[in-house]
Amino acid sequence: MASIGACGLSGVNRQAFSDEDVQARKLLVKWASELGLRIFSDAIGNLFLRYEPKGSTGAPVLSGSHMDSQPCGGRFDGTYGVLAALEAVTALHASGAQLRRPVDVVCWSNEEGSRFAPGAMGSMVFTGTRSLEEFLDIRDRAGIYLRDALGQTLDAIPQAQRCPIGFSAYAYVEVHIEQGAVLEQAGKRIGVVTGIQGCRWFEVEVTGEARHAGTTPMRARKDALQSAVRMILALREHFADAQDHVRFTVGRFDTLPNSPNTVPEHVRFTIDLRHPEDAELARLAGSICSIAQTAGAPCGVTVRATFVCDPVQFRKRITQHVADAAGALGLEALHMPSGAFHDAMFLAAHCPTGMIFVPSARGISHHPDEYTASADLAAGARVLAEVLQKLATE
Ligand SMILES: [Zn+2]
Repeated sequence: MASIGACGLSGVNRQAFSDEDVQARKLLVKWASELGLRIFSDAIGNLFLRYEPKGSTGAPVLSGSHMDSQPCGGRFDGTYGVLAALEAVTALHASGAQLRRPVDVVCWSNEEGSRFAPGAMGSMVFTGTRSLEEFLDIRDRAGIYLRDALGQTLDAIPQAQRCPIGFSAYAYVEVHIEQGAVLEQAGKRIGVVTGIQGCRWFEVEVTGEARHAGTTPMRARKDALQSAVRMILALREHFADAQDHVRFTVGRFDTLPNSPNTVPEHVRFTIDLRHPEDAELARLAGSICSIAQTAGAPCGVTVRATFVCDPVQFRKRITQHVADAAGALGLEALHMPSGAFHDAMFLAAHCPTGMIFVPSARGISHHPDEYTASADLAAGARVLAEVLQKLATE
């Protein structure tokens, strides 16, 4: 699979609804056909490969992830979750296990959002978070409409039966590389993912007075940049927590007039704030304005919220299955929240949902150097197979 859209020494460039994405889908469908799975696709191009042994009925257990990548991303992000689910289904098939309900390997469309923003389109449309119509007129940088690229992708897999958007599912389990270094540093092989941290974005505007850098005494200045620096330091100190759970990032910083010999009049900077717990994230977010205003005096300060994404807690029943499966296989596991967003974030509102992490070497992801040892990939797939069997038979 990694040879499709190969980029650099070991990366992939397989952006949503591209020729490479289509080739990857075709290969996946070929493997699924060899296993005798039934192939479905909905109108946003989510692919479902259904294992439906005799005696299984009703809503399926879903497992998968995405196969699109960043412009030069790694070979494991997303793709591992789809292929691990296919491996798990292959093992269920080989074992001849009696299942009460079908198991679908799912490949969600456009998780990365690097070609057509936003990301997680497939899972958002499936769960009714957003409608397909909202996305059809989005264009990529070459001016190509999503509706056309999606149409070509759907046409390329004629054997896929059309299924309705958002059919009911018994449960969803996604295995994914961690994309951080927590498991590696803890020396654990399996992450029992408890949920996905929430995120809030802010834009802070600092207004001072532009003055001559040579003639204006220090005590008479309203220097927007000096105020902004004090604010950022005060916020960083305020957000420091012993467990290191808070994520506080100032990633964009613009100053006006941006001249070496004028006292800065205007600064605008962004804040990206994340935490796994809803109440704590809200409390931290609520403190930004007063801290910024106090530290920013004598300049004027306004804080505007620009984006909110609430934390998601996965269902205890699913995390327990993951922990039990890891224990039964003798794999050391760690309960942890996910630092990154995943399709599972949206599925959590649709059906009982959980995730399994495997270690990422040095925490590198969205880069060709992304790497997970084969033994760890296999361990994650084995845990997934146990969990899927449990969910499909309970
Ligand atoms: Zn991913």
